[in-house]
Amino acid sequence: MTRGFVVGRFQPFHCGHRALVDHVVEEVDELVVGVGSADVSHTTQDPFTAGERVLMVSRAVDHLDVPTYVVPIQDIDRNAVWAGHVRSMVPPLDVVYTNNPLVVRLFEEESGVAVRQSPMFDRDRFEGTDIRRAMVAGDPWRDRVPDPVVDVIEEVDGADRLRTVAGDDAAEN
Ligand code: NAP
Repeated sequence: MTRGFVVGRFQPFHCGHRALVDHVVEEVDELVVGVGSADVSHTTQDPFTAGERVLMVSRAVDHLDVPTYVVPIQDIDRNAVWAGHVRSMVPPLDVVYTNNPLVVRLFEEESGVAVRQSPMFDRDRFEGTDIRRAMVAGDPWRDRVPDPVVDVIEEVDGADRLRTVAGDDAAEN
């Protein structure tokens, strides 16, 4: 039995993230998706709440045969204990999939868990920063996120929220 872990901010969860999850579930028996920076929302970089992102991910992975658990994880001030913090919040893990060098390092220093590279797919189209930019600009973005994520974003009037906070952030700078 191998339980894998994927972590990201998922602002929003896009088709590249879904392709990554589809790839990882080929290698594991169960999957845990950590919704990182769970304490952050309503900013240009992090517009969606943890609860909204849990909905996005849960609905977008609903088609999987592999049991999948979606867990929000707050950031903490001390990187040195973050991997332990994560492990205290999620089911027991065997392998962590990430491309973030800091996340690799923190989990490698934590014993008992393997770390594997996680590919990202069609990065030119599926990139959170550019999808958020498109929402602010009123450019097309719906074809770059799974349909259930479109529904969540529309339910919370997410594009309008993002335009509001982007305007606010710009006014402050
Ligand atoms: P992230 O903030 O979600 O992603 C960082 C950048 O990497 C984004 O541009 C993201 O693109 C990109 N990316 C994500 N997965 C990728 C992949 N497979 N290939 C290429 N690029 C990829 O960071 P993360 O590393 O995925 O998630 C780490 C989470 O853990 C964050 O919430 C972070 O705050 C948290 N963390 C917290 C602490 C602490 O609290 N002390 C320490 C370490 C990490 P997209 O925007 O398109 O996803």
